[in-house]
Amino acid sequence: MSLQTLTPLRILVIGAHPDDCEIKAGGVAALYRQQGHVVRFVSVTNGNAGHHEISGPPLAARRAQETLASSAVCGVEYEVLPNHDGQLVASIPVRWELISMIRRFQPDLILTHRPNDYHPDHRMTSQLVCDAAYMVTVPAVVPDVPFLKINPVIAFLSDEFQRPYPFQPTVVVDVTPVVEKIIDMQAAHVSQFYEWLPYNQGVLHEVPTDVEQRREWLATQARERLNQVANRFREELIATYGPERGAKIEFAEAFEGCEYGSPLTKDNAKKLFPFFD
Ligand SMILES: [Zn+2]
Repeated sequence: MSLQTLTPLRILVIGAHPDDCEIKAGGVAALYRQQGHVVRFVSVTNGNAGHHEISGPPLAARRAQETLASSAVCGVEYEVLPNHDGQLVASIPVRWELISMIRRFQPDLILTHRPNDYHPDHRMTSQLVCDAAYMVTVPAVVPDVPFLKINPVIAFLSDEFQRPYPFQPTVVVDVTPVVEKIIDMQAAHVSQFYEWLPYNQGVLHEVPTDVEQRREWLATQARERLNQVANRFREELIATYGPERGAKIEFAEAFEGCEYGSPLTKDNAKKLFPFFD
């Protein structure tokens, strides 16, 4: 823990699948960890449908191992819930599972998917987190786990969906200094980034077999995605970091306050995203 952070922040990133947190918040996770804050990635499903050759328990076990490799890159905690991939429903039992998990972790900030997304598990995860917000403060709900006195701040991970409205960032963070960590975290998910996703996108034949070459192949795509975020929110980066640095930032991640958590304001954003001079 660095001297500037006497009280570590507790950051909870909730994705639908093992790899979602890395894709959209790997950079801030690495930055938080550099300052000694506590970061936990949660996958609401066990990912047991995300492959073209294996599925079920063997795939869930393989992906659990991949989360361990990812978590070792910069020391984030990783939790995988036992819900089945592709079958997530915003049911009362899963809502209670999330309320318990959130209460036990006691986050200052939760990051999760937006409610509108191509993948039903992403939509359901967002719905479940929104449904758990506020209810985490209600003692009679999940009465065996102590309730939170304060509703955590919640922010959404960025995406490119246009309906019902495009993503509107509240906070945009320069993640250029940690881009290699982001790529290493993603590269830990071998079954996804080198097998299933390229297969699903019809480009499996492009994946190099050599370990270093395939990492570079993945790095090119990861850098391109992060660069697109920086260019899309260039004005916000300039407003945050000033014209000189803001104009040059190569890679960024962006987050949008959710109305159902405690509000993400300009003031508390400085505390919750302690990356700005
Ligand atoms: Zn996903």
